[in-house]
Amino acid sequence: MQAPPQAVQRGDPVGIDRALLERYGRIPVPRYTSYPPANHWESMFGELEAREAFCSAGTRAASIYVHVPFCRKLCYYCGCNMLVTRSESLVERYLRALELELDRVTALLSARPEIVQVHLGGGTPTYLDPDQLARLADAIQARLPWSPGIEASIEIHPAVTSVEQIRTLARLGFNRVSMGVQDFDPTVQKRINRRQSFEETRDLVLEARMRGFVSVNVDLMYGLPLQTVEHFQRTLDRIEELRPDRIALFGYAHVPSMKKHQGLFRPEELPGTAERLALLESSVQRLLAAGYVHVGLDHFALEDDELCRARAAGTLRRNFMGYTTCADSDVLAFGPSAISEVRGTYVQNAREVHDWAEMLEKGRLPAVRGHRPSDEDLARGALIMRLFCSLEVDLDELRARFPGTLCDLRHEERDLARLERDGLVLRQRARIRVTPRGQLLLRSVAAPFDTYHRADARLHAPAL
Ligand code: SF4
Repeated sequence: MQAPPQAVQRGDPVGIDRALLERYGRIPVPRYTSYPPANHWESMFGELEAREAFCSAGTRAASIYVHVPFCRKLCYYCGCNMLVTRSESLVERYLRALELELDRVTALLSARPEIVQVHLGGGTPTYLDPDQLARLADAIQARLPWSPGIEASIEIHPAVTSVEQIRTLARLGFNRVSMGVQDFDPTVQKRINRRQSFEETRDLVLEARMRGFVSVNVDLMYGLPLQTVEHFQRTLDRIEELRPDRIALFGYAHVPSMKKHQGLFRPEELPGTAERLALLESSVQRLLAAGYVHVGLDHFALEDDELCRARAAGTLRRNFMGYTTCADSDVLAFGPSAISEVRGTYVQNAREVHDWAEMLEKGRLPAVRGHRPSDEDLARGALIMRLFCSLEVDLDELRARFPGTLCDLRHEERDLARLERDGLVLRQRARIRVTPRGQLLLRSVAAPFDTYHRADARLHAPAL
């Protein structure tokens, strides 16, 4: 007889049940970087609403996100908002527009917030040369000074990053770096149009450590064309040599209807469901055996990493930039397509760099859509965050925090009962706990609470 499921305890292994992963993994669910997911925000939300949102910011701590959209080459699997260009004049225009945006947003804030986190994402932030990186960092610091213990991180593509850039970043106060690797296999790299050697990646990791970066993250991706379990294990061998503090293991989301270039992959080149799950399963087992802890959605970290400590202490949080130890803070975001979050209100900038820059040059804020949450949205967003960060949630506690919400859960009951029957969650009165078996299926565990998802289940990529 199978043992009854238990809630996740500290140090528990991740439960891997191939049949359940296969069943739930093929059902499309949102990624929940926000609640409600971005496809439910309103395009009637514009400059006026954005102003209102920024005016209410300043009294809470804030994180800053800057989107650098430029790339040297197109990786065919890419799902980001980016632009392949060699135009120096466009980069100059971007930097000037960014300064305008920083001026405009900071002028609206009700007070100067404590800046606890800065993240440069892209695109490829290291598309910018050392002088341009310094100009960008100085522009932020001049308007929104960083607090002494700040988490300052940057995403880099090792093939377009120099040792000199790492030195510059260290001098500018950056102390965390995230490197895109995906797969070291040359056949896969050729097919996805992204070449980078182990050696250049290793040299940058060593340089970052020598320059005092306290955390190195490596992004890996399973489900890419021509990947095999055997070859991906070799990539994991090399990753073990690098011993990054954190590893993000993402599943490739194949949505050629939204990302046209992904149509360059022939369906027969992509791993099927069984191979995809074998890649996931073997990678997770390998990372756990190497001493990494599953922090939550797609993320692993060494046991002494601050993310693991924050999870154990119940202080782990998640925002657009991923998992963070920064307690509840607003997000002020700059650059094309960047998303700010101020007290639960989302504000998204124009997506194209030209549109975004033009709006700023004309004296406007570049907001084109967003969402002002209802109390029910806030409660459900907090619920999903708890599941992702603490692996448990107390509905009564949320009802007390957001009065009048989460009253009628009849719709959710059927799905919750199914999750419980399948051993993904445990329920004790108003408390819901994720079991080890549910850890790789957190999005599926969260989905029943998403009232928006019922209407658009087909628009998202599968859960795994
Ligand atoms: S470097 Fe990153 S953002 Fe640029 S094309 Fe490749 S995956 Fe996309």
